[in-house]
Amino acid sequence: MKVLVTGGAGYVGSHCARALCDAGHEVVVYDDLRAGHRAAVDARATLVEADLADSATLNATFASGGFEGVMHFAASLDVAESVRLPLAYYENNVVNTIRLLRTMEQHGVRRLVFSSTCATYGVPESVPITEGMLQDPINPYGHTKLAIEWALRDSATAWDLGACALRYFNAAGAAADGTMGEDHDPEPHLIPIVLQVAMGRRDKVFMFGVDYPTRDGTCVRDYIHVEDLASAHLLALESQKPGVFRRFNVGTGRGTSVKDLIDAARSVTGHAIPAEPAPRRPGDPPELYADPSEIASGLGWKPKYTDIREVVETAWEWHRSHPQGYGEG
Ligand code: UDP
Repeated sequence: MKVLVTGGAGYVGSHCARALCDAGHEVVVYDDLRAGHRAAVDARATLVEADLADSATLNATFASGGFEGVMHFAASLDVAESVRLPLAYYENNVVNTIRLLRTMEQHGVRRLVFSSTCATYGVPESVPITEGMLQDPINPYGHTKLAIEWALRDSATAWDLGACALRYFNAAGAAADGTMGEDHDPEPHLIPIVLQVAMGRRDKVFMFGVDYPTRDGTCVRDYIHVEDLASAHLLALESQKPGVFRRFNVGTGRGTSVKDLIDAARSVTGHAIPAEPAPRRPGDPPELYADPSEIASGLGWKPKYTDIREVVETAWEWHRSHPQGYGEG
């Protein structure tokens, strides 16, 4: 199948583009490289370096013909920034996705896998989180992703779009062969930060909140390996039917606290990794982990990585061998 991968030079997008190539699909990556990395684009894929706001290039790309599906990752994803700049988030995430959907409709492309998030649940009523729970985001980033889910649902009814929203928990880890991984600037995420401490690039990690109502007082998250996310995307795309909207949580079903994570990194790296309590980070729900049973029965998906130490090992391999990330400045 010929597949357009928006944001295919980013963290999750690049791993999915590679998985598509491995499965024999023809891949066109559409990425403006603002946050993505040229070096993350698989050599077997074609790169269109453009913004989704550039309607002419988007239209010309689809007009080149033959596309049967789209995986849509391109988005702004920094929660704190979304609070400061909500309209920029609505513009980039919602308006640009509408533009993408219109172009797909015009060109008769009826399969889409969308990168959604557990942030659409806000502070969940209970854990583990099931897909039927109330979606009530607590920040603009989550609102934009939820707005897109609704646009997909309505498009499935109105013009036969087949769409699957994958609500990821915490994307983590790196390619098992050590060639691709996470490279954000600035880096807000816990695992890369902890590993930067292990590499001596930071003095210590701050634990944002140690008085949460969780088993050790720190926040609990569900860290899902990026290659497991990629296999979920592939299964979703290949089984997608026109006119059907589906949504699945993608997580391991296991919760890992900030303290558990730091302990796992200590044991994987052999470094002390000093950690210091710090105030809570605004907007952090105490505990988020998935009930992944719907995706197991609906797509036959299950994660390969269920032990947090193995996830951290792949990330450690990547960060150690690529201390400057993709090194493009
Ligand atoms: N966190 C932390 N120190 C850091 C970065 C993150 O304690 O330097 C915590 C954060 O408060 C959250 C968890 O680690 O509870 C995971 O945060 P991350 O930013 O990796 O992912 P998020 O859950 O926000 O998507």
